[in-house]
Amino acid sequence: MAYQYDPENIFAKILRGEIPNQTVLETEHSLAFRDIHPQAPVHVLVIPKGAYVCYDHFAQAASDAEIVDFNRAIGEVCKREGLEAGGFRLISNAGEAGVQEVPHLHVHILAGRPLGRMLQKA
Ligand code: 5GP
Repeated sequence: MAYQYDPENIFAKILRGEIPNQTVLETEHSLAFRDIHPQAPVHVLVIPKGAYVCYDHFAQAASDAEIVDFNRAIGEVCKREGLEAGGFRLISNAGEAGVQEVPHLHVHILAGRPLGRMLQKA
C-alpha cells in the first residue's frame, strides 16, 4: 500500500510553526507536545518530524536514526513527566479502524489517573 501523506494536516502545520504548541521535548527527528484536549492529567503527543502517516508507515520507511530518536523521545518524555512510578499508556491510532483523526504518526502518552481497561466496545 502507498501511504498518502497530507502536508496540510494539523501536525504538519505545528512542525512548520504555523500553529503554536506546548512543547515538552524537541529532538533532531521528533517533537513532543501536550494534547489540546487532554484525556488524562498527562497527555503528551510524540511525533516524528518526517512525513509519516501512521506507525506502520514509519516502521517500514523511516531511517534507523529516526526510529531510534522517536523511541528515545518517548522514553525521555516518560522520564521528564515522572511516569515510571504511576504507570502510563501508549496509544497510536492508525486509519479507519483505529479512528485516527490526524494523519501524521503520533503516539499518545497518557498518565496521571487510572486509565481503565485497554479497549471499550465501539
Ligand atoms: P488521533 O485520534 O488521531 O489518535 O488523535 C489526535 C489527537 O490530536 C487528539 O487527541 C486531539 O485532541 C489532538 N489534536 C488535534 N488538533 C490539535 C492541535 O491543534 N494541537 C494539539 N496540541 N493537539 C491537537
